[in-house]
Amino acid sequence: MVNLIQVGAGSGGMPVLDMVCRDPRIVRVTLIEPDVYKPHNVVRHLFPLSAVGRLKAELAREWLLERRPDLEVDVLACDLLDPAMAARIEDAVSTADIGVCAADNEEAKYRFDALMHRFGKPWTLGEVLAGGIGGFVHRFTPGGPCYGCVASHLQRSVTVDRPKAPDYSQPGGAAPEVTIPASKAAIGVIAGLHAQMTLGMLEDSKPQAEFTSFLLTLERVPDIFDEAYRPYRFRVARSADCLICREDAAPAPSSAAELDVALDQALARLGNA
Ligand SMILES: [Zn+2]
Repeated sequence: MVNLIQVGAGSGGMPVLDMVCRDPRIVRVTLIEPDVYKPHNVVRHLFPLSAVGRLKAELAREWLLERRPDLEVDVLACDLLDPAMAARIEDAVSTADIGVCAADNEEAKYRFDALMHRFGKPWTLGEVLAGGIGGFVHRFTPGGPCYGCVASHLQRSVTVDRPKAPDYSQPGGAAPEVTIPASKAAIGVIAGLHAQMTLGMLEDSKPQAEFTSFLLTLERVPDIFDEAYRPYRFRVARSADCLICREDAAPAPSSAAELDVALDQALARLGNA
């Protein structure tokens, strides 16, 4: 009996949600997704052209209930960072057993990281790299390294991570011309890994002993990836100075305002590292 919370039902998040919710252990889902389905989404998404103009969150709910009428589905068609919804979102996080992040922007990833850390919940994050040249799946457990720890480590050790913005779910974001869209096939490969590792965490309480982050290359890219289809496992340690999870720091942010400050500091630190 597992209660899931997921942020993001774009072209990457939706197949993850679909695959994870096929598992009968999942009995309840809270989905946070503010976007309206757009014509340019159709080429990479599960939803048809006729769904354009409707909320992705509502479409996702219908998709799930057509396959799992027994599933309890709660959708919040709002931004994860919406201060007006903070209490509602915190309530959903506090009652969840596991989280899935398929957000396309760093602010949302850090917000989800802080929330999951504060409430002590395990979670997973999938990231398709721009152009679909590969992707990451990260696994986080209470007491282990958080996304802040992992992101700062990977930024130093993996050249591909930051200069190429992840393109997981929103190829048509604020500036679509600067992001090379990934193919549906590339998104599907990483989404499948993300779903598989999420389901694996329902059984394995200490997956970080093996690895925290898994990178699969899908293309050979000179100066970035020597080979296509090569897996890399990263076992990232907790960072003593991580602004999200360090123990000697101020207590985990307890209000939206404090969280905003922690987020700003974390983002500034990423930019300066
Ligand atoms: Zn951390």
